[in-house]
Amino acid sequence: MSTLTVTNSIIAQQELSRRLARRGKTIAIVPTMGALHEGHLSLIRYGLKKADVVVTTIFVNPTQFAPQEDLNRYPRDPQGDLKKIKQAGGQVVFMPSPKEMYPEAFETYVSVENLTRTLEGAARPTHFRGVTTIVAKLFNMVRPDIALFGMKDYQQAMVLKRMTTDLNWPIEFVIRPTIREKDGLALSSRNRFLSPDLRRQAPALYRSLKAARQMVRDGQTDASAVEAEMRRIIGQGAPVAVIDYIAFTEMESLKPVTVIGKDTVASLAARFGTVRLIDNLKIA
Ligand code: AMP
Repeated sequence: MSTLTVTNSIIAQQELSRRLARRGKTIAIVPTMGALHEGHLSLIRYGLKKADVVVTTIFVNPTQFAPQEDLNRYPRDPQGDLKKIKQAGGQVVFMPSPKEMYPEAFETYVSVENLTRTLEGAARPTHFRGVTTIVAKLFNMVRPDIALFGMKDYQQAMVLKRMTTDLNWPIEFVIRPTIREKDGLALSSRNRFLSPDLRRQAPALYRSLKAARQMVRDGQTDASAVEAEMRRIIGQGAPVAVIDYIAFTEMESLKPVTVIGKDTVASLAARFGTVRLIDNLKIA
């Protein structure tokens, strides 16, 4: 398939996926909310190495936004997205409508109970229920062999991995590294809302994560000492930032650690004006 096929209805996508499977083609899914950047494209490119056809889904999912959050101002650029996907070599784009995804009578949700209570889940209590529900629906529509997600959204990846295992989808679950700007800022669709001044301050987040990793490499194991240094670096480089949390967790279980050991991830969320940024790094 060298041309880009766009499906707009659930039935069209289901039929296409069935046809591909009958022809023996393997399918990789890259779920996105659009406004695509190099982070998304890296997932598509990796998907192309692992499967015959990559289906990129674009859907700004209303159920993962709380009423006061930024659903209506979430960036949308469908034409730009299609161009980028085509350039990256993606073959199929599934862009369903909110009406079809959530008809009026809709009332079934999927939720992962415990992994969603901390970090982003604590800050955004209804967020992950929306994420797991939409990804479950997309899995049923696209029927992928492989699903690709970014480490950028660390907790999301772990929650979705748990869901995929618990609900027995025969899907290979792949988590890929975070793609960053040259100055270290993790690519995000929301970065475009940073004023030039905030944009200059934002890389302090990654600097603090790298410093944390270095401290651990140098022998520090006390999470509170590492956190204090991270707060110092962010306070100095990004005085405008309001830190929601800095956390140290065991990679898969998301259990908090006070003594940094194997498989510890440092993660953080901070508000820069109205823009909320998250980032994380495996520090041990
Ligand atoms: P989103 O469109 O923000 O919902 O993200 C769609 C997918 O792209 C998710 O699996 C994200 O984790 C992933 N993603 C977002 N930003 C990046 C990034 N900077 N590097 C790698 N993957 C990313």
